Parts: sequence; structure tokens; C-alpha cells
Amino acid sequence: MTRSLQQVIDPAKKVFLIAHVDPDGDTIGSTLALAHALGKRGKKCTLACSDPVPSLLSFLPGVEKFGVPQVTDHDLIITVDLSDPGRLGRAYEHVLELSLPVVNIDHHITNPMFGTVNLVRSDAAATAEIIFDLLSDWGIALDQLMATYLLTGIVTDTRSFSTSNTTPRVLEVASELMGKGASVTEINESYYRSKGAGTLRLWGRMLDRMELDGRIIWSVNTLEMRRECRADSDNGIVNLLGTVREALAAVVFREHEGHRIEISMRSRPGVDISSVAVHFGGGGHPQAAGAMLDGNLEQVIPRVLSRTREVLDSAD
Ligand code: AMP
Ligand code: MN
Ligand code: MN
Repeated sequence: MTRSLQQVIDPAKKVFLIAHVDPDGDTIGSTLALAHALGKRGKKCTLACSDPVPSLLSFLPGVEKFGVPQVTDHDLIITVDLSDPGRLGRAYEHVLELSLPVVNIDHHITNPMFGTVNLVRSDAAATAEIIFDLLSDWGIALDQLMATYLLTGIVTDTRSFSTSNTTPRVLEVASELMGKGASVTEINESYYRSKGAGTLRLWGRMLDRMELDGRIIWSVNTLEMRRECRADSDNGIVNLLGTVREALAAVVFREHEGHRIEISMRSRPGVDISSVAVHFGGGGHPQAAGAMLDGNLEQVIPRVLSRTREVLDSAD
């Protein structure tokens, strides 16, 4: 552990941990594991997330501890898996202005180092891998629960060990976590094989509206489509779009209340899609990135497709 990290964590008694908006398995699993470890070191932890934890993660004991509380008498803030301050969400958008130290633990290459102390390692496949190393530095023995939290982060961020960031080291860490009793099968069953029928109905509609524009495959997910299909999420259909042979990049345009469009992007190795996300104020990894844009679909789609085309042309 770096000295500066030790200097802010050691004296802290009440820690405010923040998971990112639209939470995934890595931000939730990593936050739970870190809170568990900090608890063992005698610290009180508050778990915060601007958005509710999706039901796909309800198999993790402790998810009910996440809420949208206020920072009160806390003496340290830790953000977990947040690529940029925009990922704090509405409830915590002013939290960096408080005069509290902020530890930024993350693995996104686009992270602008917004913390007082930044533990950002883009070589890590998941923030869970960084937490794994941190706990080992602290000499905290992993139990089955902590191993399950961390393995959930790794399995979900590597899409079950299939993405280009699945290094030999990730497999070693996963192997050790399995040795502590975490189950890859259980995580896969809970996370990838528990979609609601509404989600698949939505997939049907989105696949119907899918378009292949040169080497970009894209589709839309509107508020109306979600309402009609009774689905609250498209559950990562962008990963499916990204498997289309003709495509080098896949984009999903997700409409939100308040004239905002969220984009989720995937690309083949060799195409750095995170530069498109950063251009629009978002972030992510070279092969998986996203952003939130103001405007409606008619305005946002041509802007994003044109920027993506430029990136694909420059990668030729
Ligand atoms: P997703 O498409 O939601 O699975 O996200 C893919 C990657 O992009 C993840 O690493 C996210 O952290 C990142 N990402 C998604 N949306 C945003 C956003 N609005 N701002 C910054 N990064 C994002
Ligand atoms: Mn994440
Ligand atoms: Mn992550």
C-alpha cells in the first residue's frame, strides 16, 4: 500500500464508500469486500450508490446496506470503480467539494485522478483485482463471502473471463478466490442466467431496430420500448451486438428521462472506443466504454456515429 493511502485510511473512523451510478458487479462486489475489510480494521462504513442495486446482484449478502445517505460525520470518502466524477450520480455530485479526503480506487484508463489519493491501475481487469491486492497488503485473510464479492467483480467485468483484459494474473486471482470457496458457477447462474422475460422481449425489439452502418452496429432502447416490454434494463445487449462479424464497434443508445441519452459502446481489440466516450464526457476501457449525453436520439445518434467512424478510420 502506498504511504499516502495509509496516511488517509489509518486515522479514519467513519468511512463513506460510494459505488458508481448504474451499478455493476464490480462496483458493488468491490465496495462490499472493501467495507467488510475496513470493518475488520475497526472502521464504521456507510455504503452509498445514487442508483438502486440491480436485482441481478441481490444474491450478494449485504447489498441491502446500499442506500442514498448523506455524508455526515464521516472522515473519509472512498469511491470504488468510478471512472470519473460524473459517475458519482446526482446524489453525490458535490461530494468532492467537501473538505474530506477522497480515495479514488479504480481501473479505468480514462480516470482523471480526481481523488486526494488515487489508487488507479488500468492493468487491473476489475477494481476487485485492486481490492484483492489491497487486502493482501493489509494481511486480511479472505473468507468465502469476501472471495465471492471479489470474484463477482472479476467475473462480471471480464464477462466470464472472455474479454481482452483477462490476463494470466486475473486467472490466478480467480483461482485463489475459488480456493477460498467462491463459486464461478453460482455467480454465472445468478448474473448471466437470471434475466426477466421482459428483458428478452426488449432485446427482440432492439434487434429488430438494429442497424449496420459500415463497420458500426447500433440500436436504440427508448423509454417507450422499456415501458411496453416491462423491462427496466437491456442487460448488456451491447455485448451481443459486438459479436456481429461485420462490426468493429457496437453502440446502444439508451434514452433516459430529462432529454438525456446514455451510450454503451464495445469494440474489437485494436480499436480504442474509450476515446469516443471521453470526447462526449464519459469514459471506460479501450474495448468497453460509455457516456451520458444531453439531447434526443435524433441529435445524439449522428454525432456519436460520426465520431466513431473517425476513430475507426484512424485505427485502419
Ligand atoms: P457499460 O456499457 O455500461 O457496461 O459500460 C462499459 C464501460 O464504460 C464501463 O467500464 C463503465 O465504467 C464505462 N461507462 C459507462 N457509462 C459511462 C459514463 N456515463 N461515464 C463514464 N464511463 C462510463
Ligand atoms: Mn463498473
Ligand atoms: Mn470495473
